[in-house]
Amino acid sequence: MRFSDVNAVVTGGASGIGRATALALARDGARVSIIDLDADGAISTASETRGEARSIDISDVDAVPGAIREIAEELGDIGVLVNCAGWDRAQAFTKTDPDFWHKVVGINLIGTIAVTHAALGYMPDGSAIVNVASDAGRVGSSGEVVYSAAKGGVIAFSKALAREVARRRIRVNAVAPGPTDTPFLESFDDSGQLAEAMARQTPLRRLATPGDVAAAICFLASDEASHITGQVLSVSGGLTMV
Ligand code: NAD
Repeated sequence: MRFSDVNAVVTGGASGIGRATALALARDGARVSIIDLDADGAISTASETRGEARSIDISDVDAVPGAIREIAEELGDIGVLVNCAGWDRAQAFTKTDPDFWHKVVGINLIGTIAVTHAALGYMPDGSAIVNVASDAGRVGSSGEVVYSAAKGGVIAFSKALAREVARRRIRVNAVAPGPTDTPFLESFDDSGQLAEAMARQTPLRRLATPGDVAAAICFLASDEASHITGQVLSVSGGLTMV
């Protein structure tokens, strides 16, 4: 098992890609702690992984250090950190306002930074961080302008941090999902028409499943990727080829 005796923290583990990642890590031997705004969803995933759950808002930078400290005190060193929590609502940039900008950047970028900053002190040499960005952060996505900026920030953050912590053999990589069949995508258009159109435009002719993305996250978190750091891996069925 790739994650025997490893403590993993997964943000956004209540739903979608984070939930699939928590399940996959647990199947592969990890003890998984979930951090999510959605307390019921987090507890539900934790019950399936025999792990534990904490409900906090990762953009609340004052709440994050205490939650991470509690996890480390209970479980010990954190060997794998997956920053997967994210949020957006599609709308034209000209219709957005500062409250929306702060929310999108606060969750997707500052939340990732805050959790990583808090966790690093408990991460031993040789551990791994995987940040879930988005292809929006690589190629841009209309209707997701501020989100694209935040996810581009997650990619740059991952690369710069990878350089800084490499001396401790801590690896930092990003996974950039394309359109993935989760409640996040459904929130953009619950009629399913957008999902169908995106699947048609995708060379492999389907959306990603949460499991497709979780597999890439688990690979980058595992020792199989022990010489890979500062990289971005798109899981998009070829929709983007960068
Ligand atoms: P999802 O909505 O199913 O899951 C997101 C999870 O993040 C939810 O459980 C939610 O409660 C949690 N969350 C949101 N805001 C939070 C906060 N402030 N504090 C703590 N938890 C919070 O969505 P998903 O599709 O599984 O998204 C996972 C990641 O993948 C996100 O970072 C998203 O931006 C990214 N992504 C998704 C897609 C897609 O098409 N689904 C594409 C590219 C990138």
